[in-house]
Amino acid sequence: MRRLKIVVVVADGLGDRPVPELGMRTPLELVDFSPVADLLSRSAVGLWDPIRPGVRPGSDTAHLALFGVDPINNYPGRGPFEAIGAGASLRPGDVAFRGNLATVSDEMVVIDRRAGRVIPEAKQLVEYLNQNIGEIEGVRVEVYHATEHRVAVVFRGPGLSDAVSDTDPHSEGVRVLESRPLADDEAARRTARVVNAFTKRVAELLRDCPLNARREERGAPPVNAILLRGAGKMVRYPRFSERGELDVARAVAISATALVKGVCALLGFEVVTPEGATGGIDSDLMSKARAAVEFYRRGYDLIYVHVKGADAASHDGNPYAKVDMIERTLRVLSYIADNVDLEDVVISFLGDHTTPVTVRDHTSDPVPVAVYAPGILTDGFSRLTEKEARRGSLGRLRSVELFGTLMDYAGRIEKFGA
Ligand code: ZN
Ligand code: ZN
Repeated sequence: MRRLKIVVVVADGLGDRPVPELGMRTPLELVDFSPVADLLSRSAVGLWDPIRPGVRPGSDTAHLALFGVDPINNYPGRGPFEAIGAGASLRPGDVAFRGNLATVSDEMVVIDRRAGRVIPEAKQLVEYLNQNIGEIEGVRVEVYHATEHRVAVVFRGPGLSDAVSDTDPHSEGVRVLESRPLADDEAARRTARVVNAFTKRVAELLRDCPLNARREERGAPPVNAILLRGAGKMVRYPRFSERGELDVARAVAISATALVKGVCALLGFEVVTPEGATGGIDSDLMSKARAAVEFYRRGYDLIYVHVKGADAASHDGNPYAKVDMIERTLRVLSYIADNVDLEDVVISFLGDHTTPVTVRDHTSDPVPVAVYAPGILTDGFSRLTEKEARRGSLGRLRSVELFGTLMDYAGRIEKFGA
């Protein structure tokens, strides 16, 4: 069987619903597809449910499924992935929580679960904690700032468990909770002890932190506690090279988004952020396109290009910015198609999930997907809106089925059976 290379281009949050501002058209229905019309007309199209119908995907779970790992049975919870999104590189066995910077009284009664939400000195506060926390019972603790009051806290050491309860009481006017072991074993008891010692140490450190004195001077509530929730223990994902049924030796992910980079690194991608690529709507996308072609020429088996902007525009509720970002992403796709040997490559273009601009968040609506492969039975559409996707011959693929399909067209997956 001939082995082909695989290029996957994702416009994050691609799919949509009709938008009143656009005369009840979707952003994709306004997109100029001419740069990729030829490639699309030589493709098969369809829909993809990243997890399954009715489950709203995160970018993390969607990417696991996109690259062949069933997220339902292999997801350690949001804590670890929140930490990855905030720039942590996690190892198997690390226990991570999502957390809030919060304001509490001297008696540890929660006054504001978000410490006023606007915390311009959050990065410095987190740095101050990281410099001063030290180890607790031989466990290294790292705090990562995400956005506003949100943080992730990573506990790294031997014998930790994620079977422990939250310290976040999820309401105000009550005391910060003690973490309790939720399993009858030493790892859970030890982790709960470490978590409770962490809560105390954070309170002590922040009481005397000069950054808080400055906050209080301008009338902002002090940040003097971290409330933890959703413990998750990092699992180990098999690298492509370890997945016996696949024939993928070298894979590269080109992205500027911490969460996507983190997930891809866990799966065994080399992760690259070309100069000028920012993950924002100002990103220099052509630097990603050139990098993709460069890795193709260097003989990589699987080349992944992730473009975040369409999702960002959707969260902002801006349909015109979304149209623009999709068109820019299509120019990336078209540059790649023009600079590779189309007899030697499978190319897929899709979203990782749907983010309707009217909802401003991810929904479970299936995502349009196009698959080009030499010799594929084509649908002949020169556009890829939600409507063509519905009529396409790929039908409605679910979760890891899409990855299997791409691998099959590339001649890189083993037969099931004799
Ligand atoms: Zn996403
Ligand atoms: Zn999003």
